[in-house]
Amino acid sequence: MQTYDLVINGGGMVGLALAGALKTSGLRIAVLEGQWPVRSLGDIADNRVSALSLASQRILQRLGAWQGIEARRLQAYRQMEVWERDSFGRIGFDARDLDEPELGHIVENRVIQLALLDALEGAANVTLLCPANASELQRLDEQAVLTLEDGRHLAAKLVVAADGAHSWLRRAADIPLTSWDYGHHALVATVRCAEAHGAVARQIFTPEGPLAFLPLWDAHTCSIVWSLPPERAQALVACSEADFNRQLTAAFDACLGLCEVQGARSAIPLTARVARDFARERVALMGDAAHTIHPLAGQGVNLGLLDAAALAEQILNMQRAGEDIGLLSSLRPYERWRKSEAARMLAAMEGLKRLFAGNHPLKKLLRGVGLLATDLASPVKQRFIAAAMGLEGELPALAKDEKF
Ligand SMILES: Cc1cc2nc3c(=O)[nH]c(=O)nc-3n(C[C@H](O)[C@H](O)[C@H](O)COP(=O)(O)OP(=O)(O)OC[C@H]3O[C@@H](n4cnc5c(N)ncnc54)[C@H](O)[C@@H]3O)c2cc1C
Repeated sequence: MQTYDLVINGGGMVGLALAGALKTSGLRIAVLEGQWPVRSLGDIADNRVSALSLASQRILQRLGAWQGIEARRLQAYRQMEVWERDSFGRIGFDARDLDEPELGHIVENRVIQLALLDALEGAANVTLLCPANASELQRLDEQAVLTLEDGRHLAAKLVVAADGAHSWLRRAADIPLTSWDYGHHALVATVRCAEAHGAVARQIFTPEGPLAFLPLWDAHTCSIVWSLPPERAQALVACSEADFNRQLTAAFDACLGLCEVQGARSAIPLTARVARDFARERVALMGDAAHTIHPLAGQGVNLGLLDAAALAEQILNMQRAGEDIGLLSSLRPYERWRKSEAARMLAAMEGLKRLFAGNHPLKKLLRGVGLLATDLASPVKQRFIAAAMGLEGELPALAKDEKF
């Protein structure tokens, strides 16, 4: 039996962020991961990228991971443009309105994960176990015990589910999930555009769903997230490149000229999920293991990194107070805090998705007027920008500009 204070199941972006936030705590931590990502990056960007908010950037800087991202590749975006197909409705955001150098950064998920791994190098209290998959969870009075598929046993005061949307640990702890199908698949791909992106993130709302063009480090290359009815997404994954390029360019109103897909296309089913509990005796949930949301506002991992920072803060508070970090009473403040933030975000995504659904002329007119009015009303706009930058709501200390 190997004994730890904390076992994190899942070494994705969120799980590694929690380990990073606790690396100087003296707590004995194990991270279990099924498979580490390949270290060498190809010439073409990975299809899975994230728009990181300023709050996420601050967290990653505090964890010493931002330098690993900068040393690999990233792209700042300084403006954001959102509009609706065949409508006068349009809204634009500019970092200069907030006196910030940028609104956020587009980074490949693998780059974030690799940089977080680099930042854990030399942390004597953190043990990375990979490949490692747990097959059994036992929750006892004073500890939880995980049995791994290879027969090893790990005991810890607290086990944390950071194993993504289909979390094994959430199911093993018997925590129910509320979920609904968004009726969309997200088609993801990397595309080269005839015109330079100019460090602008763009999103067009079409009757089928939103299509985002996220600027990458190459001035003519973007990562796209195209939310579509499932059959349409599958057809666009299967069609020829020439056909895809034609349809994509048309769907984007040829805003950046002709588009050419580079590399593979894939489609990911989109489901809203929220766990009934984010904490139980000896178990806590965070990131996609606790909630998944529509990517139309690019907030999923931003929410997850805030979970990791909030849980780290709560664990440190309990450690300082000499409390048992695995007791439900110790985890309740974290659960209340992050559950309400996740509920707020889920409701906002649902509202946005419904607002832009349908092609009824009256609804379209109202949307157009609403977008224009918001564009002209600077206090409302400022709130939108602050929310997109992750500066709304109750922030953990790691995401603020203050000492942790
Ligand atoms: C199309 C699309 C676009 C998106 N764009 C954005 C965006 O722009 N901005 C944003 O903030 N968010 C975005 N998101 C959401 C974001 O990708 C997720 O919120 C994020 O990946 C969640 O990170 P995580 O670490 O919680 O989970 P994951 O990234 O799923 O990581 C889970 C980790 O656990 C490991 N694992 C799984 N099961 C086990 C097991 N049984 N044992 C051991 N290890 C295990 C996996 O190998 C993986 O490493 C997008 C999502 C989609 C689908």
